[in-house]
Amino acid sequence: MAFSYCNKELYCEGVPISKIAQEIGTPFYLYSYEELMKGVKKYKEALTEIKGIICYAVKANSNLAILRAIFREEAGADIVSGGELFRALRAGVDPKRVVFAGVGKTEKEMEYALRVGILMFNVESEEELEVLNHVAKKLNKKAPIAIRVNPDVDPETHPYISTGLKESKFGIDIRESPKVYKKAKQMENIEVLGVHCHIGSQITKISPFIDAAKRVFELIDNLNNENISIKYFDIGGGIGITYKDENPPKPSELVEAIKEDIKKRNLTLIMEPGRSIVGNAGIFVTKILYTKKKDKKTFYIVDGAMNDLARPALYGAYHEIKPINLKEEHITIKADVVGPICETGDFLAKERGLPIMEKGELLAIMSAGAYGFTMASNYNSRPKVPEVLVKDKEWFLIRERETYEDLVRGERIPEFLLE
Ligand SMILES: *Cc1c(COP(=O)(O)O)cnc(C)c1O
Repeated sequence: MAFSYCNKELYCEGVPISKIAQEIGTPFYLYSYEELMKGVKKYKEALTEIKGIICYAVKANSNLAILRAIFREEAGADIVSGGELFRALRAGVDPKRVVFAGVGKTEKEMEYALRVGILMFNVESEEELEVLNHVAKKLNKKAPIAIRVNPDVDPETHPYISTGLKESKFGIDIRESPKVYKKAKQMENIEVLGVHCHIGSQITKISPFIDAAKRVFELIDNLNNENISIKYFDIGGGIGITYKDENPPKPSELVEAIKEDIKKRNLTLIMEPGRSIVGNAGIFVTKILYTKKKDKKTFYIVDGAMNDLARPALYGAYHEIKPINLKEEHITIKADVVGPICETGDFLAKERGLPIMEKGELLAIMSAGAYGFTMASNYNSRPKVPEVLVKDKEWFLIRERETYEDLVRGERIPEFLLE
């Protein structure tokens, strides 16, 4: 394990975490290179028997160093904005391994992606298709596309991260999609390449993926009968990780279940994992500023907050919490771990069994590598925290802590207010 205790002290690979805290202060995000590579490798191994491309979902963690490490393993990127495309290119992605999703792509973003020559656009509506055709024409190019279909399966995950039900804003109803495919085929500046679906996130069962895939294979066969040939099946991301006691499927189990259908149709399988590559490769390190008792409740007030790690406040998400230094005695109490932000929703854990701790002690919020830093904000004018990557016995600062100057960069006070 990349994060484990040695002499009662939590290490990331070969580095004692308290040592990093001493040098750069708290709070900060900390990633293990070894664990990150494990995440990529389980997808690489899953795709050895069929033609496949890993398109890492940049929104899960978009630090340039993390992207670079992933792209070096021949993975591409799943992007949802021009900004993510910029990051991916900066980190050296092969544009031919980039897929572009999102319900609200702008013309400017389309133009950018067409100019760099991405693998395909995952189109989410008929109007978007028309605009894309128009933008491609202007550039005298053909826009390669897949249509994001909504297979109407229930991934049985949190409603905020469930995207494959017919009432969701994502994609086109799979039953309506043949009509849109036919229209796309007629368009002069569109090239139909694939079918895309993405049913949700933190999915811990294999059955919703298989249900969705079955519906997609049926669609692909129907399209073939209409002379619309499909090269790529993009099955999206969404495989879950263990936050507490979940037992998510392995990518290889999913591929195993659908590989014959893939081979039979001579398809290339695209997978868009985010969380399952970076989630357990990262932690959030925070320091107890104060402890406080109110009635029978104990609060550990820490220097990290909902603006740094939003998932508990946003989804009521569970993150395991470990003390960086273990105690001799093993008494645990129930405590709320809360941040300094002026919102009752600002908590990292509630009623959590933790040792009796004092101010100044450090906590590790586990499984924070995905949707951690990327969801951070400057709320309460809190500078964004640094990010650190550990490899073996070395650690590297991969993002500096923001300064107060960073907080006001780009802001202007109009002349009339200066009088
Ligand atoms: C968010 C997203 C992903 C990644 O989801 P994970 O649950 O992190 O694997 C993949 N594809 C699309 C289209 C997404 O929106």
